[in-house]
Amino acid sequence: MLQVLNPATEEPVATVPAATPADVDAAVARAADAQRRWAAASPADRARLIRRFAAVVDDHLEELARLEVLEAGHTIGNARWEAGNVRDLLDFSAGGVERLNGRQIPVTGGLDVTILEPLGVVGVIAPWNFPMPIAAWATAPALAAGNAVLLKPAETTPLTALRLAELALEAGLPEGLFQVLPGTGPVAGDALVGHPGVAKIVFTGSTRVGKSIMAKCADQVKRVTLELGGKSPNIVFADADLEAAAAATPMSFLDNSGQDCCARTRILVQRSAYDRFMELLTPAIEEIVVGDPADERTQMGPLISRAQLDRVRSYVTDDLPGIRGKAPEGPGFWFPPTVLTGISEDAPCAVEEVFGPVAVVLPFEDEADAIRLANATEYGLSGSIWTRDVGRALRASRAVRAGNLSVNSHSSVRYWTPFGGYQQSGLGRELGPDALTAFTETKNVFISTEA
Ligand code: NAD
Repeated sequence: MLQVLNPATEEPVATVPAATPADVDAAVARAADAQRRWAAASPADRARLIRRFAAVVDDHLEELARLEVLEAGHTIGNARWEAGNVRDLLDFSAGGVERLNGRQIPVTGGLDVTILEPLGVVGVIAPWNFPMPIAAWATAPALAAGNAVLLKPAETTPLTALRLAELALEAGLPEGLFQVLPGTGPVAGDALVGHPGVAKIVFTGSTRVGKSIMAKCADQVKRVTLELGGKSPNIVFADADLEAAAAATPMSFLDNSGQDCCARTRILVQRSAYDRFMELLTPAIEEIVVGDPADERTQMGPLISRAQLDRVRSYVTDDLPGIRGKAPEGPGFWFPPTVLTGISEDAPCAVEEVFGPVAVVLPFEDEADAIRLANATEYGLSGSIWTRDVGRALRASRAVRAGNLSVNSHSSVRYWTPFGGYQQSGLGRELGPDALTAFTETKNVFISTEA
């Protein structure tokens, strides 16, 4: 049994049966059967059903958002955006069904065409930090490309995933096409990864588990997309609008209590602007409203679990200098907004993904030093560049090794632009114009005109 707790109060919310390898076997068989019929249906019919699924999600946005507040401690504003993101992903993917075009390639003696075929059954393994959007990023395009999906949510956050599966049926999606398998990683997750009937795994989670999944997939040459960790830089040059940069910095790493793979947790500030930037940043951090996630005014809620709280605490001892915000006392997994200063570049909190409301500030001398520091990481997911110099913005955007950069902004995720990591932040891309193609095989067919 999986025990779901409210992270803001530590009160039990639900218990959910955990899937066994036998449950995974049975689900794969049902999915394979549903997928054959789904792939044979007309593109217009598939698109219509996915649009209907989007409409049913839209009708239940508030319910889904409240469920996410309850099981994940997300602020209600974020949770509403997340439920809306599921709806948008479904609509966006539905628009791709009739546009999943192959190519016609010039040849002599015949006609050459490529066909994009569905993979079959796709396994999606999701983390707890953004249970709904991350599930939808893979599920919606995979379904649209003609696949069946088996979704394994994280142990702590199965409830919105289970509700989405019910809404899919209500919308008229065929039984078995989209199934949710709550369970533990080492049992249900592992069974999904090792199952020969599963053609691809889309995994979002820690780099450590991602590596082990990639190794296991290699055994069957199973397709894999990995969205892993990050330690993203927020580079503030002295010529930037410092007021704007400082005002935007808190939520660039405090959103979702820092449990965000794109969190800008390394604040790199040019030395000549360092003192002024810190003067602006200090009150901005101290004013962040941390508390009941269901309250509309709250900017930051609790961490997901006691284990995550212990992990964050292990990086931040009381003796470390820096800025500390406020957090509630009493039950719940609370940790205050924290910015550490005077930290060496290679300290664990400056190098490892803390996955909590903690950032470090590191000074740099010039552009070359900024790029060196930004790239001094095994990750490469996101990053921000603050400068008024267009040439510098472009040079830095080219030089930073990361999949998602923003200039004078911390924005990094839109469902219609590609998302994914360099280096150990992942493999492959999700979202964007090619989202559906990631769930297809390309078949080339030559038809002779000579026979
Ligand atoms: P995790 O790796 O522990 O778990 C993620 C998922 O994998 C869970 O569903 C878990 O049950 C499952 N799992 C665990 N062991 C498994 C195994 N042996 N076989 C199959 N499945 C297994 O990560 P987490 O603690 O849930 O999530 C936090 C991590 O996710 C952070 O490192 C964060 O950076 C990363 N993340 C990355 C992105 C991205 O898009 N790059 C997005 C969100 C989170």
